[in-house]
Amino acid sequence: MGQPLIFNTPMTAPKETMSNCLPPLPLGPSPKRASRQSEVVWESARITVGGNAPVRVQSMTNTDTEDAIATAIQVKELARAGSEMVRITVNTPAAAAAVPYIREQLDKMGVYVPLIGDFHYNGHTLLKEHPECARTLSKYRINPGNVGKGAKRDPQFAQMIEAACEYRKPIRIGVNWGSLDQELLASIMDVNAALPSPKSAQEVMIEALIQSALQSAEKAEELGMDPNQITLSCKVSNVQDLVAVYRDLARRCDYPLHLGLTEAGMGSKGIVASTAALAILLQEGIGDTIRISLTPDPGAPRENEVIVGQEILQTMGLRNFTPMVIACPGCGRTTSTTFQELAANIQSYLRQQMPVWKKTHPGVEEMNVAVMGCIVNGPGESKHANIGISLPGTGETPAAPVFVDGVKVKTLRGESIAQDFQVIVEEYVKTRYGSTQA
Ligand code: SF4
Repeated sequence: MGQPLIFNTPMTAPKETMSNCLPPLPLGPSPKRASRQSEVVWESARITVGGNAPVRVQSMTNTDTEDAIATAIQVKELARAGSEMVRITVNTPAAAAAVPYIREQLDKMGVYVPLIGDFHYNGHTLLKEHPECARTLSKYRINPGNVGKGAKRDPQFAQMIEAACEYRKPIRIGVNWGSLDQELLASIMDVNAALPSPKSAQEVMIEALIQSALQSAEKAEELGMDPNQITLSCKVSNVQDLVAVYRDLARRCDYPLHLGLTEAGMGSKGIVASTAALAILLQEGIGDTIRISLTPDPGAPRENEVIVGQEILQTMGLRNFTPMVIACPGCGRTTSTTFQELAANIQSYLRQQMPVWKKTHPGVEEMNVAVMGCIVNGPGESKHANIGISLPGTGETPAAPVFVDGVKVKTLRGESIAQDFQVIVEEYVKTRYGSTQA
């Protein structure tokens, strides 16, 4: 028989711990990188990008731009979801001709979200031959890898910059590793090969992306472009490469930077990869606008890319867009789906209300709502939220205490808990944030 183990270590805190010797860790993200500020304008919408402006969320349509009605409807949906600028592809003469009509439809609906024209290969011609398109777009995206090859590249790039100067439009020089300027890449590879210790192929690719953006910006300035009207992006589809590219780009220029992981992919992979990449950069203060390039599941709304972008910024504490719902994951203590349904319903209700609430109840986007599955963490988490509800877990009394600003105000019972809770949320919003009329 062995001797019983006796634990008699005194339960006192050590006098000196390692953490006492270490410098304090910084709390929160680094200050935003200092950059110029550009303005993207249409009618009453004036969206500042860079400088002290908040990180902007933008999106892109996937409709055929020639189908002006379908495109206008999707732009409206993206804007309603909170996209502050919407990019549309302008790839054919018919698409360029449709742009003013799309703009007109949006204006009639009171949707003044600025439109960004995305040009490849023929942008110089389209902007020249369709002046109304050039005028009604609020910004041009120019991909230096797709403006033309050989002797045509510089004059075609110049034509696009001339249009931007003539119509006083800001531009984004948007480099993409899938369409990287091959002549530039080849010349950098030659220089690299002659070095005593050549860099890796990955490092060369990163350098080529950055040089493509910086050289194009320099050329644009030489052609008369206001440097305050230039934004840069260098998109790749690998998380670590994106972080490396933007860290370097950020220290080599003071233009605002547009972030996005290109071809992020579908479903959770696209969301996770985009979040992983952007969160690192945003935490370091890098990034002035973002776009989440999700491949939508068939039939899924395009607005998801806007929601993901907003949620990245909001969960990082950088901006608030919509009241946040805090919900526990559920476990063996919850045998029904009631609390998941309640959390989902409240989240979608809050999101639907936001287009109106952001005008009538400013500040509501900072509200937190907790929906918890049982008594273990329910009351505690609910007390920390503006409004919280703790639903009954398995074997608990069928009652749901509701907390408002940390105080238990009510206990809901019966079949109508979800509806009753929604009424409480509505009342709270009206009394706490109700200062203006629609
Ligand atoms: S709050 Fe209750 S139901 Fe939710 S995860 Fe914790 S123990 Fe499970």
